[in-house]
Amino acid sequence: MTAESAEFDLVAIGGGPGGYAAALHGALAGLRIAVVERDKVGGTCLHRGCIPAKAFLETATVVRTVAGADDFGVTAGQPSIDFAVSQARKQKVVEQLYKGLAGLMRQRGITTYRGTGTLLPGRRVQVEGPDGQLQLSGRHVMLAPGSVARSLPGFDVDGSRVLTSDEVLALDALPASAAIIGGGVIGCEFASMFSDLGVQVTVLEAMDTILPECDREIVAWLARSFRKRGIAVHTGVRVKGHRPNGSMTTVYFDNETVTVDAVVVAVGRRPLTEGVLADGTGVTVDSRGFVVVDDHMRTTADGVWAVGDVVDTPQLAHVGFAEGILTVRGILGESTIPVDYSRVPWCIYCHPEVAYAGLTEAAARQRGFDVAVQKYPLGGNSRARIIGDFEGLVKVVAERQADGRPGPILGVHLVGPWVTEVLGQGYLAVNAESVPDRIARFIQPHPTLSESFGETVLALTGRGLHLG
Ligand code: NAD
Repeated sequence: MTAESAEFDLVAIGGGPGGYAAALHGALAGLRIAVVERDKVGGTCLHRGCIPAKAFLETATVVRTVAGADDFGVTAGQPSIDFAVSQARKQKVVEQLYKGLAGLMRQRGITTYRGTGTLLPGRRVQVEGPDGQLQLSGRHVMLAPGSVARSLPGFDVDGSRVLTSDEVLALDALPASAAIIGGGVIGCEFASMFSDLGVQVTVLEAMDTILPECDREIVAWLARSFRKRGIAVHTGVRVKGHRPNGSMTTVYFDNETVTVDAVVVAVGRRPLTEGVLADGTGVTVDSRGFVVVDDHMRTTADGVWAVGDVVDTPQLAHVGFAEGILTVRGILGESTIPVDYSRVPWCIYCHPEVAYAGLTEAAARQRGFDVAVQKYPLGGNSRARIIGDFEGLVKVVAERQADGRPGPILGVHLVGPWVTEVLGQGYLAVNAESVPDRIARFIQPHPTLSESFGETVLALTGRGLHLG
């Protein structure tokens, strides 16, 4: 029975980065907004993804720092880890951010309904919640239900031997050994974190490289670091299955096996559309389960929009933010520029960190660009030497112009300490299609890690300072 009905300018199904960004942005523009969320606002990013994973990666950083303290003349002894404390700290960080977000949404007059939202024909949304059913109707409806971890046949997730990122991020104690299936973004972040926390790690990746989307030279630095730290990486493998063996399990791949305490399945995420769409809504879903949208996030149903992991665009929180904002601008009839997915920032928080935006050198060549490439190993950067963490590379790919001068910057690729923070200016350079001669005029603060980008661009002009 429908107990209540209410009307809004925008009803968002899903309160993750796509849904809450649209709500926060739209509320400031005067829209009456409802967000339907079955769990807590913040979504995968805040509760089961980016934030908790980075909180644990920070624990790993502390361990590395303490382990290297002797080099700085600081006697700290061998670090030991109480993972339950780290788990509690992570949860505190998540709760603080959750309270901040929920408070901000309240302050902006956004109504949040707890429950599962289903789009019905005619831009009505049915909410099935702990307090019963209600129906909302929206001038516009935005689908932002997100995604779930993809499963792998033969690997039933049981929360003890076989885990996905959801279970790993809820652990109170670490396994002694783990096989991670998938050497993508989650695979590399977890491999790095586990290894720094003393877990013996094996990565099993189907493609011929880990992080297949990254520039190969950047990946080579990460792979070298993984090797040195004893992380076993097997690429180009076919994982066949696993057989439990006491409290452990044996994973079969190619003609080899590895016996571990836990298997982490990290083979991508699939869009979550089950229960989101009733019959007759007019929304099209493609063969892979993604909601079909145009480049302004409009679905095939009038007044229905879709953003975030449920559409076939990079599954990144900040892409969800951008798509949510784009949707609100579209609803308001403002001029909109579609998101340029080929130039979004990618940040991977393993050690060493990896960050990039734009075309890799190989992709630029494949597209027929005459490219000019400049590289700068971070061993030459003073701040990297000061912090004692200097394994890394800055690589800038530009289009070479007819006169031989480097033209617009096509891609910026980084590996090393704090490069997820350094990427900002590289991202701007790529998206502004800036030319090195112009960027080289800007002053970079010294000594910083970020000046490595300026130095690389300066060298691209043929007159580097420290770099010949
Ligand atoms: P992914 O697409 O990054 O990586 C999956 C990897 O698994 C790929 O390298 C793929 O080749 C491999 N793979 C697929 N099937 C396999 C099989 N049967 N055996 C072995 N390897 C196999 O996906 P993910 O790492 O699961 O992450 C999911 C999404 O979450 C990503 O799209 C990413 O955008 C997002 N994410 C982002 C961040 C970040 O930005 N820092 C962090 C975590 C997750």
